[in-house]
Amino acid sequence: MSLLGRSREELAACLVEAGEPAWRGRQLAQAIYRQRIQSVEEITTFSKELRERIQRLGWEVGLPRIAQVFTSVDGTERYLIGGRGVEGRTTDGLASSDTVETVWMPEGDDGEAGDGSDEENATNDRIEKSWQRATICVSSQVGCAVNCQFCLTAKLGLQRNLSAGEIAGQVVAVLDRQSVEIGRDRVNLVFMGMGEPFLNYDNFMAAVRLLVEEVGLSPQRMTVSTSGIVPGIQRFAGEPAEVRPKLAISLNAPNDAVRSQIMPINRKWPIEAVVDAVRVVKLRPRERITFEYVLLAGITDKPEHAREVARLVRRSGLPAKVNLIAWNPGPGIPYAMPEAAAVDEFRRSLAGEGVPVYMRRPRGRDIYAACGQLKRTVEG
Ligand code: SAH
Ligand code: SF4
Repeated sequence: MSLLGRSREELAACLVEAGEPAWRGRQLAQAIYRQRIQSVEEITTFSKELRERIQRLGWEVGLPRIAQVFTSVDGTERYLIGGRGVEGRTTDGLASSDTVETVWMPEGDDGEAGDGSDEENATNDRIEKSWQRATICVSSQVGCAVNCQFCLTAKLGLQRNLSAGEIAGQVVAVLDRQSVEIGRDRVNLVFMGMGEPFLNYDNFMAAVRLLVEEVGLSPQRMTVSTSGIVPGIQRFAGEPAEVRPKLAISLNAPNDAVRSQIMPINRKWPIEAVVDAVRVVKLRPRERITFEYVLLAGITDKPEHAREVARLVRRSGLPAKVNLIAWNPGPGIPYAMPEAAAVDEFRRSLAGEGVPVYMRRPRGRDIYAACGQLKRTVEG
């Protein structure tokens, strides 16, 4: 039984079961989420006897293991993180259903800093680390059921949901590997890895609460991306601001006809339904909704598409920005990368229409870590 993934109250309950006072749950939470201990033996605030008692009761930390690391020339690191099945069994073999992919991007990707810092210059007097800010891209499911035609993850189908501990655990494991000091280093999270967070809503939000309340990260430096799962957006709108990440919508097309063609989910929840749901979210001062827009050559990257997107964004009445992403190719996916000139024209056109627009720099392309490329390379 894993301790990581449990709230402070749940940890306190574990200790009560072990015959200890509930207040010690705080010490346990500190050890797991702040000190990032690997095993119960490392809980220095507990006596040896108590540590043994906890272990005898069957508890272990459950910090996910980084099973494999792929390093890109641009500093991006992609991890296969694994080893805990839904039933809590340890899996040292790399069964496809039991590893997820998490990406570390030093300096962010220029598109989704998650904290609005894409507008400022990231200068910092710290030099002992090679990065000044970084973004961790987190997975919410193994595979995905949504079936967007341009996305490699879709090819896996949905293998399973990740637990709250597995989602938060990706972050804790990467923070540990990179020796991140919370409160000092600037780390942003984007829930844009494998899976659709809003189809694993409860575990996703439980993970966010742990990351905010126990790990100490700010929800204003987190962005969750959804393909437009309307019931999920509606629930999300009801979350208190203290634990609500920023919201990004994978728009990816200028109208319903094109969107339904590349994102079949659009037939269930068309653009207007998604935008209506988003309008209910109470934004913080200066907060904006991000519309992600993948440029597919000949399909979504034409000049008239840019004008349509600008109209759509304006008509929504939402404080919004557009994040353009040049499509990253993958085996067996029948699309083409947009020409640099088309990308540039698209960006200028939106900007010219007064729509705030950012280009997401592709990161880790050489290791298949860029958007939509998170699929097990071990499968070829
Ligand atoms: N499932 C969620 C979050 C993960 S996908 C969602 O779809 O929003 C994160 C982003 O990557 C989405 O905006 C998606 O449109 C984009 N994406 C998927 N495949 C891509 C590819 N091959 N190239 C570029 N972006 C891609
Ligand atoms: Fe799933 Fe997002 Fe890929 Fe669509 S783009 S298949 S929702 S991971």
